[in-house]
Amino acid sequence: MTPPERVRALNSGPVRTDGEYVLHWMVAARRLAWSHALDHALEHADRLGKPLLIFEPLNVGYRWASDRLHRAILDGMLEHAAALAGTGIGYFPYLEPKPEACRGLLHALAVRACVLVTDDAPVFFTPRLLTAAARIETCRVEAVDGNGILPLARVDRTFVSAHQFRRVLQRVLPEVLGDRPAAKPPGSSRVAPFRGVASEIMERWPPASPEQLGDASTLADLPIDHSVVPNGWRGGHTAARRALDRFIEHGLPRYADERNHPDADVASGLSPWLHFGHVSAHEVFDAVAGAEGWTPLRLSTKTDGSRRGWWGMGDAAEAFLDQLVTWRELGFAFTTRVPDFDRYETLPAWARTTLEDHASDARPHVYTLDQFAAAETHDELWNAAQRQLVRDGTIHNYLRMLWGKKILEWTEHPREALDIMVELNNRYALDGRDPNSYSGIFWTLGRFDRGWPERAIYGKVRSMSSSATRRKVELDEYLGRYRA
Ligand SMILES: Cc1cc2nc3c(=O)[nH]c(=O)nc-3n(C[C@H](O)[C@H](O)[C@H](O)COP(=O)(O)OP(=O)(O)OC[C@H]3O[C@@H](n4cnc5c(N)ncnc54)[C@H](O)[C@@H]3O)c2cc1C
Repeated sequence: MTPPERVRALNSGPVRTDGEYVLHWMVAARRLAWSHALDHALEHADRLGKPLLIFEPLNVGYRWASDRLHRAILDGMLEHAAALAGTGIGYFPYLEPKPEACRGLLHALAVRACVLVTDDAPVFFTPRLLTAAARIETCRVEAVDGNGILPLARVDRTFVSAHQFRRVLQRVLPEVLGDRPAAKPPGSSRVAPFRGVASEIMERWPPASPEQLGDASTLADLPIDHSVVPNGWRGGHTAARRALDRFIEHGLPRYADERNHPDADVASGLSPWLHFGHVSAHEVFDAVAGAEGWTPLRLSTKTDGSRRGWWGMGDAAEAFLDQLVTWRELGFAFTTRVPDFDRYETLPAWARTTLEDHASDARPHVYTLDQFAAAETHDELWNAAQRQLVRDGTIHNYLRMLWGKKILEWTEHPREALDIMVELNNRYALDGRDPNSYSGIFWTLGRFDRGWPERAIYGKVRSMSSSATRRKVELDEYLGRYRA
């Protein structure tokens, strides 16, 4: 059963026994396995003896909508259409042709539903969607938290450091690690067969055909940013699982020692699939635990927040889980507690004070948004990282920190640096617009960090230099790859 602490009723509507189906509105956990929301919808369908309809829309009216982001989401939708065909579970993929065209569709589907189950998520457009869904009166609307391994309902304070958060994880995770969503997609005859969406709905909001979902030309007519192009990266669970398996075999054994070296390229690269909900943290954790032959009996009883040794796994797996669980979920915890997480004012007071104290320090270089976007700085390493972002939709882990720190150094004011980082990260990065976009960007300005020896421009905020990075990490091949 779905852990009740992951389910949040958004309205006080009834679970109707006279509805036609259970409606699962898939907006964040876009996957058919390892999904608490899907499990919960299936539980309703079982109990009520009703079919399940999965409604997965892709709208055009959100900020930064582009060919790259649309392609990633459409890849997942195409897989869902194929996987659900013949299972008896209804699938309604909707591709919005112009802003606002989707308006009214959710309500029209909900009028016939016994209960509506959707995803809970703290960032980007999901909170707005949830507020709108809460206004539905015809049936109960529930949002299910499938964001991470720690249920967000257990977050009872705003954490200021990873260490503080790790201590809570070490106390709570042993109680919740067993609450895993179903690992396999629902097969045929799992629930009563779905008989079809009402014709008046299909006429007004025609569902996307598999051809539309798969065809490159589909994007050309949409009012989205066509300058941010797909880059060959594939969305969807199949590609995510392939990347996960490859990482477990080749990357994980070297992760502890080599993850900071761009030339080694041993990081998982999973963040975009995690972001689109195409793979879940539970599935990634399960793969790591399996590779380690791990059982919960190996968990340490110490809850002192230490980075190593608590899981009872090898060094590499512990280092990886510290990113996947501690750092990733810290972002979800923070954005859940602090709704204006994207505002400069939510930086810790010490960071704002010291940045302000140094706001009028002379900047040896200052660039505009367009210059940054075009990788036109004096620093070849920074430019290479920016080119990777534009071309591949990602930046190597370690260089992403340098990328952010230099924007802070090369803008007139930290507020401007923040705006530029958010714009570039969220426009180009496949994993952008995520709680961890804001963790990473705000980390460069002091969030989740401590004070360091005072320096020009940075004040007490940690600084980074390109020359030190060039000395510390291996990146000759990387620089060659992302040359102008
Ligand atoms: C300026 C800046 C911007 C960033 N923007 C984003 C973003 O838009 N989206 C995003 O998901 N992450 C962001 N990060 C965090 C981090 O850089 C990426 O999560 C990581 O590079 C993803 O690569 P990977 O999947 O190979 O990571 P791996 O090293 O394989 O780690 C596994 C997973 O752990 C999580 N993770 C790893 N490092 C971090 C971290 N530092 N903070 C939070 N979670 C982490 C990610 O989900 C990642 O997929 C940003 C960091 C900085 C400094």
